[in-house]
Amino acid sequence: MDGIKKRVAVIGGGIAGLTAAYYLQKEIREKNLPFECLLFESSHRLGGKLQTLVTGDGFVIEKGPDSILARKPAAKKLAEEVGMGDRIVRNATGRSYVLVDGRLYPVPEGTVMGVPTRLWPFLTTRLFSITGKLRASLDLVLPRSKMEKDQSLGAFFRRRLGDEVVDNLIEPLLSGIYAGDIDQLSLMATFPHFYDVEQKYGSLIRGMFRGGAKRPKKPGKEEGQKEGQFFTFTTGLQSFTEAIERRLMDGTVFKGVRVVKIAAGDGRYEVFLNDGERFVVDSIVLAVPHSAVPMLLKEYDFFAPLQSVPSTSVATIALAFSERDIGPVGTGTGFVISRRNVQSITACTWAHKKWPHTAPKGKALLRCYVGRPGDEEIVDLDDETIVRLVLDDLRQVMDLPVKPEFSVVTRWKDAMPQYTVGHKERLAKIEREMEIHLPNVYLAGSSYRGLGIPDCIRQGEEAAEKVIRSFRG
Ligand SMILES: Cc1cc2nc3c(=O)[nH]c(=O)nc-3n(C[C@H](O)[C@H](O)[C@H](O)COP(=O)(O)OP(=O)(O)OC[C@H]3O[C@@H](n4cnc5c(N)ncnc54)[C@H](O)[C@@H]3O)c2cc1C
Repeated sequence: MDGIKKRVAVIGGGIAGLTAAYYLQKEIREKNLPFECLLFESSHRLGGKLQTLVTGDGFVIEKGPDSILARKPAAKKLAEEVGMGDRIVRNATGRSYVLVDGRLYPVPEGTVMGVPTRLWPFLTTRLFSITGKLRASLDLVLPRSKMEKDQSLGAFFRRRLGDEVVDNLIEPLLSGIYAGDIDQLSLMATFPHFYDVEQKYGSLIRGMFRGGAKRPKKPGKEEGQKEGQFFTFTTGLQSFTEAIERRLMDGTVFKGVRVVKIAAGDGRYEVFLNDGERFVVDSIVLAVPHSAVPMLLKEYDFFAPLQSVPSTSVATIALAFSERDIGPVGTGTGFVISRRNVQSITACTWAHKKWPHTAPKGKALLRCYVGRPGDEEIVDLDDETIVRLVLDDLRQVMDLPVKPEFSVVTRWKDAMPQYTVGHKERLAKIEREMEIHLPNVYLAGSSYRGLGIPDCIRQGEEAAEKVIRSFRG
């Protein structure tokens, strides 16, 4: 440790850990600080769930996430910092659909996460019966939630808008994001904004009409020219994590080594690796899934609640076809599926429509998801069976040839942490204990304060700021 006064270990090289390491090293380099930042990743590659397959004939296939929400600034800022700004591409806008009782219905225009913000599309959609619409309109007169504490997303929306709007629209849209059961997911940890709207306006619909939806305004843009809400990179999401990796200092990244234990002593920490090596550090960013934390810090009982946080297993299935061989998909970009259907798939993106750069000319790329709470066994089936089940489901809504030109199945075991009711309080309690018993150790990543890529990046950046502050005293 020549000249180095303080050392920090970032454990986990997914997007959260990479971001923490990037901002820490940037600060160290720019301010010439006597600190060192090491990154430990158990697999042989960095990037975690961001994985792209680029084929020789021009397909860009995302095996994990495929889009970054543009409204949250942390990801774009980092992309520009690491020289990826000119590869950013927005999604093509187009209709999205929801599959209910075997039929595709367009998502009514102006709905925000399923909550209507425009009257006419809501009144005229066939997605809901007249009774369902009348029940939803009770939202205008129902009293506000009285409770201050948390509740499930399902309980909140069912009370305000009724079961039909929830089952046919809100549940498919929201559980598509969290791969979760909305009757278990925490309102306050996922969409606290809806609670605020209800409290402020006394009604979700009224609040959204009056601008509670915070719709991004783009003066001068016509309807038809709307900018997509998401972005990716022309070279795929993995090229983003590779760009971050290239900016890390030589000799500071350890791949293919699992951290097996962390021990505290004399105000410092010992980080033990599976190859027998150990490092003494002053601070740690734990950017690993929550299930790993209690195993690394066994003697700290206060991490026990993390063991019971469920995570859903999912798989993505990419299917390539010749565009002329598949039935018309219109101007749509994909569909989500109501639980009232018996389908195995939970969503399908017409990727070549949403992201035209992902398929060569004349080719179609469909990306489907399987796996949801209560139906995760499908993820363990062999590739051939999964592809067959997916094709059977797709054939109910579009014409497809017997076989795709090729398919790529990617399994993500226990990959989607579920922020169940009480998540925020449980996390706050754990972090209070950490401040007392494990000073200068910080949590970052999808298990904690948001699982979208921009949220993970923000958490990584915040963890880096905390480390620097603690080192400076
Ligand atoms: C199929 C799928 C689709 C998704 N789609 C989207 C999307 O379109 N948009 C979006 O914003 N988000 C999406 N998400 C969510 C998002 O991809 C993840 O939440 C995010 O990438 C998680 O990043 P992370 O750094 O927290 O964790 P991870 O990517 O899981 O990284 C954690 C890292 O820690 C390493 N590790 C674990 N234990 C140890 C140890 N003991 N020692 C050393 N290293 C260890 C792991 O190997 C891993 O690399 C999707 C997720 C999945 C699975």
